[in-house]
Amino acid sequence: MVSRIQLGNDRRVTGVSYLDADGRERFQKAKAVVVAGYAIETPRLLLNSACPGFENGLANSSDTVGRYLMAQAGNVVSGRFEEMVRMYKAPPAHALTEEFYETDPKRDFARGFAIQTVGPLPIAFAKQMMTAKGAWGWGLRRVMMDYNHWASFGFLGEILPHAENRVQLAEEKDAYGLPVAKVTFNLHENDKKLIEFGKKKTMDVMWAAGAQEVVQEARYAHLVGAARMGSDPKSSVVDQFGRSHDVANLFICDGSIMPTQGSANPGLTIMALAARIGDYLIEQGSRVFDSSVREMNAPKIRRDLSPPDTWGHGMPTF
Ligand SMILES: Cc1cc2nc3c(=O)[nH]c(=O)nc-3n(C[C@H](O)[C@H](O)[C@H](O)COP(=O)(O)OP(=O)(O)OC[C@H]3O[C@@H](n4cnc5c(N)ncnc54)[C@H](O)[C@@H]3O)c2cc1C
Repeated sequence: MVSRIQLGNDRRVTGVSYLDADGRERFQKAKAVVVAGYAIETPRLLLNSACPGFENGLANSSDTVGRYLMAQAGNVVSGRFEEMVRMYKAPPAHALTEEFYETDPKRDFARGFAIQTVGPLPIAFAKQMMTAKGAWGWGLRRVMMDYNHWASFGFLGEILPHAENRVQLAEEKDAYGLPVAKVTFNLHENDKKLIEFGKKKTMDVMWAAGAQEVVQEARYAHLVGAARMGSDPKSSVVDQFGRSHDVANLFICDGSIMPTQGSANPGLTIMALAARIGDYLIEQGSRVFDSSVREMNAPKIRRDLSPPDTWGHGMPTF
């Protein structure tokens, strides 16, 4: 694993130190470094790479490395139906609504949520029933024997970015003597209102579908943020192409650069960001290695990546 990103005298990174399989520290020189460790390990690595000139953490002149960490509210609502449902036959999400996704001025909170059908398999279902119904012992066995009558919805709610929700370095060290991540995360007023409303709405849908009993498990999913993207170097870590504002040959390409998250699963957005950063690197070529000039124009869309004769079919034109 990479233990530290090394900075040279000219405010450009020179490579990374890493620990090999025997725990020995080695150095890999590099003309540019792309960090892709996700929302906890990317900020941890940058903070652990503090050095003269960046005493507060590498690329952290804005003091935003580690901040604005987000999760999504991921409550699971389950309903018991008279008929057999056999939800194991169709995991995971196979239908969803984004009816409540955007801010609605009629509600007293910003942003919104999505509702997806989910099909927890028996072990996950047992955990949900323990949490949602307090089922245990013989009671849990009875619920599990009734598994085929249950159906579930996943509620995915947008939690806003808050500077106080953050990754810092802990006093505690890992096996290699490196400080582990300390995570501080709290729900704020808007988040609590959104979750309460969304939970109730999802339960209402389950009742309306004809369930005889409806329960819910409070849950969270999908970390993002903690090295956010932005146009202002004073309030963000990287620019729109993942290039750190402070160090011209240091990039971040993972879920940590998302400044907000919406209510959708983040994987496809992270992949789209990786494609965009990849295109930018191709377009910039060797200028990334020796120039600090930022070409901020978006790279051309590479239509030739589509299979022959498929470009434009079913897609918006640009
Ligand atoms: C159980 C589960 C279910 C999920 N389901 C979905 C889903 O259905 N849909 C969806 O969109 N998203 C889902 N997610 C979220 C999704 O997996 C993540 O958002 C996504 O993988 C993040 O991508 P990433 O490239 O930012 O980081 P990752 O995919 O986490 O990659 C980071 C990599 O960096 C490595 N790394 C970290 N630190 C170091 C270091 N110091 N040195 C070297 N390597 C390092 C890690 O080992 C890892 O391989 C799920 C997540 C979990 C845990």
